[in-house]
Amino acid sequence: MATPQAAPAHPKYVWWNGELVEWDHATVHVTAMEWVGVSAVFEGIKAYANPEEEKAYVFRLSEHMQRFDESMRLMRMEPEWNAEQLSESVLALLRANGVREDTYIRPFAYRGRGGRSFRSASENAPSILINTHPFTTTLKTGKTITTGVSSWTRISDNVMPPRVKAVANYQNSQLAWQEVMRNGYDDAIILNERHKVAEAPGACVMLVKRGRVITPPVTAGVLESITRSTLLQMFEEQLGTRTEEREVDRTELYLADEVFLCGTGAEVTPVVSVDRYPVGNGQIGPITSRMIDLYHDVVRGLDAPYDPWRTAI
Ligand SMILES: *Cc1c(COP(=O)(O)O)cnc(C)c1O
Repeated sequence: MATPQAAPAHPKYVWWNGELVEWDHATVHVTAMEWVGVSAVFEGIKAYANPEEEKAYVFRLSEHMQRFDESMRLMRMEPEWNAEQLSESVLALLRANGVREDTYIRPFAYRGRGGRSFRSASENAPSILINTHPFTTTLKTGKTITTGVSSWTRISDNVMPPRVKAVANYQNSQLAWQEVMRNGYDDAIILNERHKVAEAPGACVMLVKRGRVITPPVTAGVLESITRSTLLQMFEEQLGTRTEEREVDRTELYLADEVFLCGTGAEVTPVVSVDRYPVGNGQIGPITSRMIDLYHDVVRGLDAPYDPWRTAI
């Protein structure tokens, strides 16, 4: 009888500065950590398995790589590879690693080619690393979370622009997470400098009121989330639900019929309470539930629309 093989602890390759490099050989010196994170930007992308076709699809790859390019440009990095070339590199890496299962993909650009100062302004061509690891989806598992509004204020465009995926922005996220988790909540909601709802530390927030889906605009101190725009489009086109992008007050969350977080990491995560106000009847709401089912089928390509959003590995 064949003994079941343990899954490898890591994939065989990472993509690093233009090459597929074996995992154990992809190392940097410990002193590089001094400052690598300061201006680093990254992406979070998911590939979902399609069990019927025994292959996996990367979800909205080109949109993610375009945003990666924008994040680098905002930090005045001049990458050696454009978004299209980096998309090809992601696929080459996934193929080299023989990926067929649900996999998280993490492109990461950092100033790491010499220089010892936090300024590093002269170093414009970033190093780029892409690595992958399997993840477990929470879609259709019934997972729900409680949230608390953090006393920390969301960073703003003229301080540290939350629009792009910068590692340092997570300092603000960490403060909010650490606070609310110690207070017994699963996740945080952060208000912006105008005291309006911005987002969760690592996901966008949407609420449902009287059949409408409402979410803060991209000028409210939020990351310009690809999942956010994906869901807004699918609510309108597939579920016939009206959507509104407008400022959201904190108390609207307390009185909402449904609340959920969304993002590549969060997928669609139902929120059952905010500051211990139960949302609706404290269960997953019907509109959230329909979106979870639809999103699940779309990302896996299960007889679902939006073919151009999926790239076969
Ligand atoms: C990545 C991220 C999101 C979600 O963005 P997606 O493009 O949907 O993955 C939301 N908020 C923050 C702070 C993030 O870092």
